[in-house]
Amino acid sequence: MHFESPIKRRQSRQIMVGNVPVGGDAPISVQSMTNTETTDVAATVGQIQRLEEAGVDIVRVSVPSMDAAEAFGAIKKQVSVPLVADIHFDYKIALAVAEQGVDCLRINPGNIGREDRIRAVVDCARDKNIPIRIGVNAGSLEKDLQKKYGEPTPEALMESAMRHVDILDKLDFQNFKLSLKASNVFMTVAAYRLIAAQIDNPLHLGVTEAGGLRSGTVKSAIALGSLLMEGIGDTLRISLAADPVEEVKVGFDILKSLGLRTKGINFIACPSCSRQNFDVISTVNALESRLEDIKTPLDVAIIGCVVNGPGEAKEAHIGLTGGSPNNLIFREGKPSHKVDNSDLIAELEKVIRAKAEEVDAEGGETPVKITLGA
Ligand code: SF4
Repeated sequence: MHFESPIKRRQSRQIMVGNVPVGGDAPISVQSMTNTETTDVAATVGQIQRLEEAGVDIVRVSVPSMDAAEAFGAIKKQVSVPLVADIHFDYKIALAVAEQGVDCLRINPGNIGREDRIRAVVDCARDKNIPIRIGVNAGSLEKDLQKKYGEPTPEALMESAMRHVDILDKLDFQNFKLSLKASNVFMTVAAYRLIAAQIDNPLHLGVTEAGGLRSGTVKSAIALGSLLMEGIGDTLRISLAADPVEEVKVGFDILKSLGLRTKGINFIACPSCSRQNFDVISTVNALESRLEDIKTPLDVAIIGCVVNGPGEAKEAHIGLTGGSPNNLIFREGKPSHKVDNSDLIAELEKVIRAKAEEVDAEGGETPVKITLGA
């Protein structure tokens, strides 16, 4: 039932963030970041567990102090998802979290300062097989680049990124991924296009400070959607001024809509109109929240009347077409049984859960075919 994505992904080298491969032919991973005080271990662990339940692949935790580095170790012991430590420049914190079992260091080598300190961090990362994420951000571009370019531009972002890349190249360290974020959609897309043509390391996509739940989702979907459709991007984070769990949901929704991941239910629903034979909007909302725990990839079509119902149901694992006096449930594109409005949501939940169990018993997630471009 799932369509095969026509996207040809850029060929990147693969790194491992804990047990999650990033780059190469690995599925595009979805990341988020905690917004609790890292020193509040219980709150941070609780938030990471909620992110894990939502299906997150990798979680970033900011580590602004040595106290936070110590707390990071305690957090790491209580969660199973790989953790990235976000460090601005303090090499001692980087070395401390490396001892605590960090899965990736988010630190820009050019920000660390003295060469011996950079070398200490890189040697430690090499010894412990810890990847580094270089993260360039339009809001914190180096002063000389701001002067040279007058304002943040895609070229300025790339020049900044290449400075960090060159430092790692000189130390013969290739175990890194890179992000080049701006809050502007055009700048984000242009900057990633430039860097994608320059290096073969995995790229972490994101629009920084994208905005609130709705506006940030739209901005991220346009920028990341454009890049992903060109095959650019190996992992992503949707930066929202919202509950981090929403970032994970939006990230998966973008990947699902492009056929790049197949986690959970893909709802197909009509917007409804006066022809609807049941309340489409409340039915879809109720099903989305009741079935959030389902990770099995399923297409479910909820359509208010016969205008488009049977056609959409044919392409879905489970379909519902509104009718009077009864609505019709489809399984695997074929009419199955009728149900009236009073039983609708409970019956659909039952049928969808049964289908998910059936698919799981047959082997679970439908593998996504990854095509690598030239
Ligand atoms: S499928 Fe039917 S109910 Fe839904 S929007 Fe179209 S005409 Fe209206």
